[in-house]
Amino acid sequence: MNGEVIRTEEALVSVMEPIYLGIFEGIKAYVEGDILGEGRLNIFQWKPHIDRLWRSAAVCGIKIPYTKEELLETTRETIRANGFRTNVYIQPRIWPKAGTGRYLAEEFHVVIPVWRFETRLGRDNPRFSQERRFMVSSWRRISSDALPPQAKAWANYANSGLAAREARRLGYDGAIFLDRRGFVSEGTGACLMIVRDGKVITPPVTASILESITRGTFLRMLPEDLGIPVEVRDITRVELYASDEAFLCGTGAEVTPITSVEDIPLGEEYPGPITRRIAEYYAEVLAGNVEKRRGWLTPV
Ligand code: PMP
Repeated sequence: MNGEVIRTEEALVSVMEPIYLGIFEGIKAYVEGDILGEGRLNIFQWKPHIDRLWRSAAVCGIKIPYTKEELLETTRETIRANGFRTNVYIQPRIWPKAGTGRYLAEEFHVVIPVWRFETRLGRDNPRFSQERRFMVSSWRRISSDALPPQAKAWANYANSGLAAREARRLGYDGAIFLDRRGFVSEGTGACLMIVRDGKVITPPVTASILESITRGTFLRMLPEDLGIPVEVRDITRVELYASDEAFLCGTGAEVTPITSVEDIPLGEEYPGPITRRIAEYYAEVLAGNVEKRRGWLTPV
């Protein structure tokens, strides 16, 4: 926190912090060789994540008082100080310091918490094939003329929270947003991909989505490595209902298969064969077992 490795209990701030003005990133580091095992960690797609943090900062008027290289070193130091040897989630958070001016602040907190998480990927992982019933939210995704979904700002997650709570209240496991035009947008914390006739389709950046690093990764990896055609275009609600498979993708979501949307089961098999194939290959990429994709990994 602010340049020092300290215990979470000591990471204290004033109750007067302008907590609604923060930005953050969500990054993961996976175990080399076998993501279900223990060992050395590699950070996945460090550069695009940290570049996005800088873009979020520019949009929100935040000046990050460190270089990108310093944040990488700090992240490594934090992981080492904890002695982590299993998969971890890294969440750099930046917000104005209390009393330094709210909307035009000059000083900022930079905190990089790191914690363990359980992956849903990897060999025979039962978490992967769990049933997940989704609904289309009655809340529309925020749009870029009011609160830009392209910036990874905490304020955007108030919108996600409304949709997630609605889904929970109605007995669903999650929600899919439509954008304000009525086209399919994204999940509450992940992007959406559907499979129709062997092709993977995902909404464009102009459909009020976060420019997801995982989505960007898949748009390259699917056609180049797996020969799966991809299409970026608007998706109608009915196409989502009538898809053969659908899954969420994101740093947190990894690959999360969707069983049904509004109680309409998707496809004949769950998880679908293409979703399964993508998840299995992605796990190998994350573990560093795919030579040509080792450039996506940064060793801790
Ligand atoms: N959309 C939203 C709203 C998110 O919070 C996330 C998670 N960061 C994503 C999409 C997926 O983005 P990424 O692949 O960069 O994690």
